[in-house]
Amino acid sequence: MSVPLSQKVAVMRYLARMRRNGTEKFPWVLMLEPTHRCNVSCDGCGRIREYADTMHLNMSLEECLAAVDECPAPVVSICGGEPTIYPHIADLVSGCVARGRFVYLCTNALTLKRTLDRYPKDEHLILNIHLDGLAKTHDMVMNLPGAFQRATEALIAAKEAGYRVCTNTTVFKESDPQEVIALCRYLQGLGVEAMLLSPGFSYTAVKADIFLGREKIKETFRIIWEGVKDLSLGNTPVYWDFLRGEKELDCTAWANPTRNPNGWKGPCYLITDAHHKTFQDLIRNTPWEKYGTGRDPRCAQCMVHCGYEASAIQAAGESLKDTWKMFKWSFLS
Ligand code: SF4
Ligand code: SF4
Repeated sequence: MSVPLSQKVAVMRYLARMRRNGTEKFPWVLMLEPTHRCNVSCDGCGRIREYADTMHLNMSLEECLAAVDECPAPVVSICGGEPTIYPHIADLVSGCVARGRFVYLCTNALTLKRTLDRYPKDEHLILNIHLDGLAKTHDMVMNLPGAFQRATEALIAAKEAGYRVCTNTTVFKESDPQEVIALCRYLQGLGVEAMLLSPGFSYTAVKADIFLGREKIKETFRIIWEGVKDLSLGNTPVYWDFLRGEKELDCTAWANPTRNPNGWKGPCYLITDAHHKTFQDLIRNTPWEKYGTGRDPRCAQCMVHCGYEASAIQAAGESLKDTWKMFKWSFLS
């Protein structure tokens, strides 16, 4: 099963509204991080390292919902940290759903199975489970034996209970493309609605040499594509072209604005030069022209989905071939 038509139509209507209004820089996905606390410590996690000093801070429920009201993005990705350990998570999810937003609750799923009944069964809610490989690899990345089994048991329970379930996989330097293919095929067999894949980002807070550079990303994703192109993928086809080196894109760093206990993180989900008090301040007072590949050395290797999926959607409108690809992916798959 792919993404429901109602979600696709809502997103397209939003795009049409923004274009009609002449809004040049608009958000697609609000990345809401109510807490940076987590119940594990993954090797590649920038958040728990970058925000180690403010880990004790949580956003209040009111602050979270005010951020949702401030930022018009049709999709809210509740992430972190591990958002399911945020004390007001059920009310936060319900509040976003009540506002008509599509919510991706991004979780390592370690406690999801026993807490599933907290969440509304609504087409607007998608449980987005983080899995970075098959059992041995995922347990190693998470530094937790049994993590894969717990996550997949939760995934199966969520499917059986009638929730929409997606997965999110980060590809690192040591990831075996054949294993990523095997993981995706296994997940499709479990009935996962869509699988999102992305290369990791070289966070400066992560000292280990585990991230792929641009050329290696393209090589790795060309191999992965051949094994997954017939599956239900959450990434757009134009972003896949970019990952495989068949299309150039500039990032749209403003498309996934991030709100966390410190404020609106600028310029993007991946690098931090400021925390702004308001969403409008982030949009108006970030020197966007200074960021992106070739302009800021920290951006040199970035091909991460939160920087480029919106670029892919916008670029698709510029070529008939890409428009058709996006139409097929949106409505015929
Ligand atoms: S589960 Fe997510 S938030 Fe927690 S340490 Fe791993 S990557 Fe970071
Ligand atoms: S290229 Fe730079 S500014 Fe753009 S999304 Fe990536 S890290 Fe952020």
